[in-house]
This record gives sequence, C-alpha cells and structure tokens, in this order.
Amino acid sequence: MGFSSFKLDQNLIKAIEEQGYSEPTPIQTAAIPVILSKRDIMAGAQTGTGKTAAFALPILQQLITNLSTKLSTNINADRPVQALVLTPTRELAQQVYKSFVKYGQYTEVRTAIAYGGVSINPQIEALKQGADILVATPGRLLDHLINGSLSLDHLSYLVFDEADRMLDMGFKDEINNILKRAPEKRQTMLFSATFDQAIFKLSKTLLNDPQLIEVSARNKAATQVEQIVYNVDADRKRELISHLIGMKNWRQVLIFTRTKQGADALAKEMCKDGIKTQSIHGDKSQGARDKALEEFKQGKTRALVATDVAARGLDIVDLQYVINYELPYVAEDYIHRIGRTGRAGGAGLAISLLSPKEEWLLEAIEEVLDHKLVQQWLPGYEPDLTKVDSPSRNTRGKSKKHARQKALSGNTKTNSRSKSDNSRWKKRK
Ligand code: AMP
Repeated sequence: MGFSSFKLDQNLIKAIEEQGYSEPTPIQTAAIPVILSKRDIMAGAQTGTGKTAAFALPILQQLITNLSTKLSTNINADRPVQALVLTPTRELAQQVYKSFVKYGQYTEVRTAIAYGGVSINPQIEALKQGADILVATPGRLLDHLINGSLSLDHLSYLVFDEADRMLDMGFKDEINNILKRAPEKRQTMLFSATFDQAIFKLSKTLLNDPQLIEVSARNKAATQVEQIVYNVDADRKRELISHLIGMKNWRQVLIFTRTKQGADALAKEMCKDGIKTQSIHGDKSQGARDKALEEFKQGKTRALVATDVAARGLDIVDLQYVINYELPYVAEDYIHRIGRTGRAGGAGLAISLLSPKEEWLLEAIEEVLDHKLVQQWLPGYEPDLTKVDSPSRNTRGKSKKHARQKALSGNTKTNSRSKSDNSRWKKRK
C-alpha cells in the first residue's frame, strides 16, 4: 500500500516521492488515517520508525484544506498558529521543523520554530510574519505566550513528541501552563517511545477519547539494532573505544556519557588517541552544538560524544554505531540511545561498556527490554576480577529509585563480588 491510499494532496505526494519514500512505515500506516479522521491519538513508536511523517503529513494535509478556503479570499489574511508540536529538546525541534519544511515545500503552509538558548527576536519576527505550524520546546514557547508574541487562540492541532522524555526532563508545569492557554476544542496527538504510569496519567488530562496506536511491543528497542555488552574496567573504557574504532575503521560513531564533563574529557582523550572527536551537551552554545553535529554528519569528525539530552532527536542518516561509554541512570534512555542507529529499518550496532559497578543499571535496562543481554569480554580488555567490588547485589530487590539515589549520592556500600556474580561474566570465545 503506497502513500496514495491516504488521498494526500499532490504537493505532499511530490515531496514524499522526492524523499525516496516508497511505502509508508507501520506507524504511518496506522496513524495517518486516524489523524485525518480528526481523532486524538496516543501512539507508541520506537525512535527511527518514521513517526515524524506520521503526524506531519496528516497535519499538513488538514492545513492545506483549511488554507485553500482562506487563501482564495485573502492571501495576506492573518496567519495565526493552528498547529503546535512540542518537543523536549532543541535538537528534536530542529529535526521536526526540517521535516515539516521538507514535506510542505510545495505547499503554501508556513512553519516556524522556537527554542531556547538562542535570541528570541528572530523567532518573534517569524511569528509576526505569520506561521501556520510552530515547532517548539516548552520553555521558550511559554516565553512567547507570556510576552504576547504568540497566541494559541486558533490552535486546532497539538502534538506532544517524545512525551515520555518531556516528563523525564521535568516539563510537567510548563505543559500544564501551555494547556491553560490552548483551546479545549482541538485535536491532540501524543507520541512516546515508552509508556509508563506517568504517561497514561498525562494522557488522561490531554486527550479526548484517543485511539491507542502501537506498532511494536511497548518499551521495545529497535529490532534492527544488534546489542553487545562488553565487560571492562572503568579506567580502560576509553582505550577500548579507541581500539574498536581504530581496528574496525568505523566512521560516524555516536558515544554516550552520563555527564557533560565526562563528554568533554572523553572527546579530549580520544583526540589524543588520533580519533577526531567532538562533544555536544547542554553547556555548549546552540551554535557550537549545530556545528559539531554538522561536522559529524559530513564525516569531518569521526566520533561524537553526547549526553542524553543533547542527543535526543538527532537523526543521522546511516548512523551505524552507538557506544554507551556509561549506561544511563534512566533505563528507558537506553532505548532512546540505541534508537539513534538502525533508523527506518537500517542495520545498526549498539555497544555498551559495562564496568562492574554498573551492573545494577544493566539489570534495570534488561527489565525494560524484557530480556537479558549477553555479556562478553574483548580479548586484551578483560576486567581485572581481583579488584572487582560490586554494589549491584546490594541494590537487588530494592527499588530502582532507591538504588539510583544511592548511586547519585555516591553513597554506595561495596561488597566483594561472589562466585555466582562472576559466573554471569562470560569470556568471549
Ligand atoms: P523519525 O522516526 O520520524 O525520526 O524518522 C526516521 C527516519 O526515517 C528519517 O530519516 C526519515 O526521513 C525516514 N523515513 C520516514 N518515513 C519513511 C518512509 N516511509 N520510508 C523511508 N524512510 C522514511
């Protein structure tokens, strides 16, 4: 079944064909007709499934129809924002904005973008010129609403993209504030890679009789991505990464660290190893982040070290390798991280470097994935079991939150690793 079955405007079909999309992806097949029928939706789709087009195309289609009536009477009529897409990060906002511009390039529909960390004035100017669609991060959107550069009085379509991440990042108050300023009569679409109780609770306040759309099992990682876990001592992780990249001649490797300082330090050390590497995180200016990303995409840098927030929304075509230098404290972030590769059905490899002290984090990830990941050693980088202390067994059976708090406060008691603990660590044949 091709895109033509959705009865989309010819100008949208033309843009889709130029992108080389021959068939809609499963989330597009499921979501587009429901959004076109004007129903609210709650959609669970893993990253890289084509979810942006799943909401962008039907929104553009509805706006084309609305505008054709209006423009035939007065082309210069007011163009208040009719569709709002909220994203948790600037990078995702840019990604979604670019998609709207790409898909809508042969139409009259205008799209604007608003996010923090850059001057607000050009955004005010763009909104003054008139925009039908606005893609925004919650904080900057509120700034516009408060200073009067934007009104949501004519809002008809509201999308929450990566809603789980928005809650993780603590945007609940901003969301409530925005909702107070939006009309109650509207079509709302919620997309989330993972579902938990907080998302279901949010959906109750946002959505009106939504259709639930799930194209894969909940909280499932991208299936095309091969996942490998290497046991290695924490102080040899950087050496192992440089070895892998160098030996296998990998290009475009995205590496995740938990902290901004960690990202900078790792990038610096890898450069010393002869691997051109840059870092992106929230302390860098938007300009520096954009530049680093662009150079990575163009292959000028071989590796990009990122924190979870900075990496959210990165869409790098053909990215094959993701390395978790450290496992994330929030297990669901693992799914987002490895979803940066294997996008739209392509193959990918996700490698996690696991030091003994991180084993409890792996257990939390395995719980979310609902299966175990095989652990192995890379010859020459075997962990030194004589110096292994594992806090993981202390945390087993206690709540994840408690364990996380303990780890974050650095207040972990250590235990010697028992024989049975060690038996889980399998040497690679
Ligand atoms: P998304 O999940 O929206 O971030 O999309 C992931 C990638 O899939 C992007 O690079 C899109 O350009 C691409 N994509 C979206 N829809 C299709 C399609 N129907 N066929 C092929 N690629 C697609």
